[in-house]
Amino acid sequence: MGLGEFDMIARYFLPLTHGRAEACGLGDDAAVLDIPDGYELVVSTDTLSAGSHFLPDQPADTIAQKALRTNVSDMLAMGAKPYAYQLGLALPKDLDDGFLPGFCSGLAVDHAAFDIFLSGGDTTATLGPLTVTITIFGLVEKGRAVKRSGAKAGDQLLLTGVVGDALCGLEHLRGRLPEAALCVGAFHTPALPFAALGGVQRYACAAIDISDGLLADLMHICRASNLSAQLRVSDIAFSSTVQGVLDTGAVTLEQVLSGGDDYQLLLAVPADDVSGFIELVQAGSVQVQNIGEFTDGAPQVQASNADGAPVYFEKMGWTHF
Ligand code: ADP
Ligand code: MG
Repeated sequence: MGLGEFDMIARYFLPLTHGRAEACGLGDDAAVLDIPDGYELVVSTDTLSAGSHFLPDQPADTIAQKALRTNVSDMLAMGAKPYAYQLGLALPKDLDDGFLPGFCSGLAVDHAAFDIFLSGGDTTATLGPLTVTITIFGLVEKGRAVKRSGAKAGDQLLLTGVVGDALCGLEHLRGRLPEAALCVGAFHTPALPFAALGGVQRYACAAIDISDGLLADLMHICRASNLSAQLRVSDIAFSSTVQGVLDTGAVTLEQVLSGGDDYQLLLAVPADDVSGFIELVQAGSVQVQNIGEFTDGAPQVQASNADGAPVYFEKMGWTHF
């Protein structure tokens, strides 16, 4: 790489602080974040490593954007406005010279989209795979964080955007789904429902971002809220590419609903607030689907077809271990 650690920080990371006082010019031992009166700090960390979360030959800017977006996605699911983030990098010694410029240009693009800045981080060399850890900070009004546990019986189950594209994009990259080239972008740089934030803050009782698959993440809300979810699978609309591969049988509905990495939101919204939520969120060009509801009962996902017949799924989602 040639550059020393401090030159690297000054050249590539300092511009990403946008001169914010909180970052102390990346010249001190830590950042100093200000929390406005009446707000709470919401904190989340996500680690991505080459070979597990992104393919080693993925463009550097998209690795950066995926790392940042998985973190921003957690903020949206909490109803928190992203504020700043810390960047931890473990860089293999043989990394390409073009990597850091590309990586940081990807971050700069997303800073503008999410109104966020870099407050600090850590950089180290590694004998293992490239690993990116981001810790993000967001702000919510005191007591207003949207938790997984807040759903009530009768709340409607809403989904932003569509799911399945990231799974199909990954399958395409692995050479298994030639017709899904259009989905690669969804895997590399998931399009977050960022404009849904105001709606989540105002109307959602519970929320989760879909990282492990719709079924598994819905189950997390069910467990935390101690409710059943009635999922109308026939009401779920997919992108035309995903619908196409479902129609040919190249992927199954179960694969699509248990595939991860879509970073859309699943929300519990009181029935009376659904139209308000949808109006607000669609004004920001985020699509919303009403795909079911929460009911009293043991924590479980009960899926059914258009005719009401139950649909059973064996695999609930992605797990690492
Ligand atoms: P220390 O030796 O105390 O761990 P470092 O030398 O690691 O401090 O870091 C010096 C400064 O550079 C700190 O302000 C740190 O936040 C910043 N920094 C280091 N790596 C990164 C990075 N990957 N992104 C942003 N800031 C970084
Ligand atoms: Mg350090």
